[in-house]
Amino acid sequence: MGRHKLGIAAAIVALLALAWVWPKGGEPPQGTLTATEPTASAAPSPESDGEGEAGDTSPDASESAAEASDPATAPGAASESPAIELAANTYDGPLGTRNHTGDDRVALTFDDGPSPEWTPIVLDMLRERGVKATFCLIGAYAEAYPELVADIAREGHTLCNHSWFHEFNLGKGSAEEIRSNLQRTNDAILKAAPGAEVRYFRHPGGQWTDRAIAVAADMGMESLHWSVDPGDWDNRTTEAQIRDHVFDRSAPGAIVLLHDGASNQKDMCGALKSIFEEFSRREYTYTGL
Ligand SMILES: [Zn+2]
Repeated sequence: MGRHKLGIAAAIVALLALAWVWPKGGEPPQGTLTATEPTASAAPSPESDGEGEAGDTSPDASESAAEASDPATAPGAASESPAIELAANTYDGPLGTRNHTGDDRVALTFDDGPSPEWTPIVLDMLRERGVKATFCLIGAYAEAYPELVADIAREGHTLCNHSWFHEFNLGKGSAEEIRSNLQRTNDAILKAAPGAEVRYFRHPGGQWTDRAIAVAADMGMESLHWSVDPGDWDNRTTEAQIRDHVFDRSAPGAIVLLHDGASNQKDMCGALKSIFEEFSRREYTYTGL
């Protein structure tokens, strides 16, 4: 009997010890995909940057890092699990932004270019398969590489404004600041591709504000979010991780966020090949939006 009581006491102590060390729950998984947009410091500086925007990058980058670690604000992989349920509402993205194609077709979107290294590869892959996609362009890069913007437009892809230099805080500025940033970006895009239409706006990092959405709407651009974000901008994300994330999260109507700029996109290009194969196995069709 004494030994029995001792056993119970030991079990209680063990349970208390376990409760003490057990995680509180709800903490984000560590070391997995962060799935935010690239930090400004990860983006290469365009040669033609003559106005010191590079000075803006440090606070943006640190803010982005802080937000990435906060599950309440980061549009991270973990918080994106409801993506597949979004089919019922085309505008179920943050602050009513679009995160569904509106029908069964899927959309591939490529951000942070154009990049002389990766955009031509992506364009080739799309052309080979007859797929139209959407390119969310950075104004400074559009100005630096106008021939790539012209290629994108000529091949019938959809153009999207992704700010002048990926300013994560753009939406917190005044309406005038937002408008002039977006106008400068559109001017660079349209100078490279005269007569083209810039139909969408995507805020850097998906850090939408009502003001940014309103200014973009006033300029004739719809605010375009996404439903699938494999974090491919991060060089630590492997080809297999990108591929598996997209396979797991994509459903008819998905808007997939990929990057033809930002960093070394070799893993993304490898994953993209698999994504095309898997999507065709699933009989998905594409929309350029
Ligand atoms: Zn971006």
